[in-house]
Amino acid sequence: MRRSDCRLCHFKDLELILKFIPTPVGDSYVPVEKIHQKQEEFPLELFLCKTCGCAQLLDVVNPKILYGNYIYQTSISLGLVEHFNRYAKEVLDYLKPAQASLVIDIGSNDGTLLKAFKRQGMKVLGIDPAPEASKSANAAGIETLNDYFREELARQIYEQHGPASIITANNVIANIDDLPSFIRGIRTLLSADGCFVFETGYMVDFVQGKLIDTIYHEHLSYFTVSCMEKFFREQGMELIYAEHIPTKGGSFRVIVQLKGGKRNVSPMVQQMIQQENKIGVGDPAIYREISQEVEEWKAQLSAWLTDMKSQGKKVAGYGASVGVTTLLYLFDLADKLDYIVDDNPARYNLYTPGHHLPVFSSDEIYKRNPDYVLILAWRYNEPIIKRHKKFLNEGGQFILFLPKLEIVSGAQLNQDAVK
Ligand SMILES: [Zn+2]
Repeated sequence: MRRSDCRLCHFKDLELILKFIPTPVGDSYVPVEKIHQKQEEFPLELFLCKTCGCAQLLDVVNPKILYGNYIYQTSISLGLVEHFNRYAKEVLDYLKPAQASLVIDIGSNDGTLLKAFKRQGMKVLGIDPAPEASKSANAAGIETLNDYFREELARQIYEQHGPASIITANNVIANIDDLPSFIRGIRTLLSADGCFVFETGYMVDFVQGKLIDTIYHEHLSYFTVSCMEKFFREQGMELIYAEHIPTKGGSFRVIVQLKGGKRNVSPMVQQMIQQENKIGVGDPAIYREISQEVEEWKAQLSAWLTDMKSQGKKVAGYGASVGVTTLLYLFDLADKLDYIVDDNPARYNLYTPGHHLPVFSSDEIYKRNPDYVLILAWRYNEPIIKRHKKFLNEGGQFILFLPKLEIVSGAQLNQDAVK
């Protein structure tokens, strides 16, 4: 389904700013018995709303296809546990809610964030559609409803548990198509002085870091403080706090209260809006530059890989995430790579969406001895190289293609490639 209006403000003055190559659902890695089935491809085109400044995909893939077969559970890394502990403490210090009042986390996964709130004496309730994640949260004593958050569920929760003083949702709202309805659910559940707190990807980081692999079908919207501030005002709420944070390549944390709430607006809100205007994230011109750079990268990488293939060299790719699917299509890499390796056992022995390149454990590079490994999971360039020094010592070479094309060999390693 393609929307014809902006997801936030419903105006229809939308400009196409990035046109990528259509891909299957980015996370739809398939088992061997399905590789003969063609996977449906969906457009991957980013539009900018010229009324409110929200960048967004207008093509909404049916959630049954998008999430249907994939029971997604984020693996909670050590870094994330620390992040959530700090998160809970910072939010409580800032908002000072009534003691032992209710905190609800939407998309609560295995309850890691709620555990941190519970340790601080708050009552907690989780909501998560992934069955395995909710099961492990409940087993750990964090009451979790295995469901999608929606208005009707919000009413039921209110009747059963009363109002919430804090509702959190991290890396959730960018994936919601009908955001006004989602926010009506939030308003139903919040106490009069309650706050909604969320973290989501930040458009400024997308532009400055050229995070093109964050464009995939699950990720429908790319927000700024500016567009969020307008949106919440329309929804009878008030954006009172915004903070730039490093999570996931660049995100921001936002706090919103009901209109007429008692809290003051932090000066950071206006500061971030001014910064966004200065950078020009609401101006289509900046995206034309990104498009052009992508074309240049693509030409450079393509020429180099074609040359290597003609010399009979073997090239593997490193990384099998949802964003890698975007890169494989956008840079036309599938016929230039022999296979993919990854460090997530859940991906081993599956095949990439659409092209059906096999995915192996990264240890396979020592058995298959590729000449080059192209790092697709480019935000992890450094840890991957460190982890596989042995590959370099045995004569293998890594190709970094983002943020710029660079070849790392064992000889260079001792110089300056990895400090
Ligand atoms: Zn809009």
